[in-house]
Amino acid sequence: MPKKYHIDFKPTLPRYTPLGKSGVVDFREGCQRCGQCAKKACIYNVYDKRCFDSGQMTDSIDYLCKNCFRCVQQCKKGLLNKSVNPEYIKMGDAYWTPEIISTNWTQAETGKIPVSGAGYGGPFSGPGFDSMWTDMSEIVRPTRDGIHGREYINTSVDIGRKLEKLQFGAAGELLSSPPPLLELPLPLVMATPSFGHVTEKVRLTLAMAAARLGTFFIVAAEQYDKSLAHYKQHIIPRISQESYPSFKGKLSGHRAVEGIYSKKMRPLWQEIKQNHPEMLISIKLPLDGNELPAVAELALQGAEIIHLCADEHGNEIGAATPRFIKDMVRRAHLHLVERSLRDQVTLLASGGIAMAEHVAKIIICGADAAVMDIPLLLAFECRLCKNCEKKRPCPVTIDSIEPAWGTQRVLNLMSAWRNQLLEILGAMGMREVRRLRGEAGRAMFFEDLEADIFGKIFGERI
Ligand code: SF4
Ligand code: SF4
Repeated sequence: MPKKYHIDFKPTLPRYTPLGKSGVVDFREGCQRCGQCAKKACIYNVYDKRCFDSGQMTDSIDYLCKNCFRCVQQCKKGLLNKSVNPEYIKMGDAYWTPEIISTNWTQAETGKIPVSGAGYGGPFSGPGFDSMWTDMSEIVRPTRDGIHGREYINTSVDIGRKLEKLQFGAAGELLSSPPPLLELPLPLVMATPSFGHVTEKVRLTLAMAAARLGTFFIVAAEQYDKSLAHYKQHIIPRISQESYPSFKGKLSGHRAVEGIYSKKMRPLWQEIKQNHPEMLISIKLPLDGNELPAVAELALQGAEIIHLCADEHGNEIGAATPRFIKDMVRRAHLHLVERSLRDQVTLLASGGIAMAEHVAKIIICGADAAVMDIPLLLAFECRLCKNCEKKRPCPVTIDSIEPAWGTQRVLNLMSAWRNQLLEILGAMGMREVRRLRGEAGRAMFFEDLEADIFGKIFGERI
């Protein structure tokens, strides 16, 4: 029996005290010395573990606390109050919310699915991926438990071109020669974030993590440092017309290469394919509303991988009222299905992939695998303050991370994300993530439900 894929996670403490959502305001005055301090009731031992970080003027209770409110409720005199940390709510933006940031921090630290003590307190529908609910109809079947290994759930995906049909000779021999195909053990590829203090050390860390995970790390040819060459089997260099002449001598040994879509790049792709027939070519196509003809044209011309990219918030690029990545990937996927071209190409999707559930959701919308970038910075404690864009110092000195520490943090994050994917697949009764691709019947879309139920009464939403 082949060995099961496993990601070695290991608790890896942050270097800086993370910003937590809320601290506990503890008024000693009025304490009746009952001797049964509510603080001892904390099952996470937050009060025993608390410490003060004088450099950041932060109390670690802020970040260790799971907000279950047990201590607040159990104090007989009601002396404990929780308050929201103003620094916490300032983090990120409307899409990359403080909750998303801190959830990814926790996963990078522990490698485990985070606990939210007081349960889910948010709305049940919202914009973007939040308007999509996944099927959990088989959640009660204990045999479908992928995390605990009772039944193996496969998270591998194939990337590359697939044949439309196989041809056999009179003696049953295979006449078709299959194009090169790579198997990734999880439907995730890593890419350099578009901002951040991404130094050589950071890129080396990401390349090391990609090698440990068995996936790829996409990096621009201009940022391809000498130290990365050791990991070339797990690196996809992104080339352009400008960078190709100086990089072409270094292409050998890579299993895939990427470039931005442009008709001028075609001779360059042909040259690469001639010189490196086994190398996969990924064409990065912006989701800007004009992608449908290009997707079909590329698929017809024999493209192997099409990487559809939205902006960092998952929005259509350059549109005044942008559509969201889930709708645009679904549109591109169905466009290929209608032309009987879908099974021949691989679709990668990037932009706004912020949480584990987004991976499952984008696959349901038609992608074969997701590309993650900003969550990798979060694994290194990034606060999304964007100081780096303003040439200000990074509050968590990302540029000086130790590769061994950073690699483990990325492994932990990936392990937590993969475990959540296993939970989703298990809850759907699926044993293969490949089967999830384009399975829109495994999800409900708020927009569709609203149109079906209320559209008949109130008309179209404006
Ligand atoms: S709210 Fe819950 S997790 Fe936080 S300190 Fe109190 S008991 Fe502990
Ligand atoms: S913490 Fe701020 S400065 Fe540092 S990489 Fe993140 S966004 Fe940039």
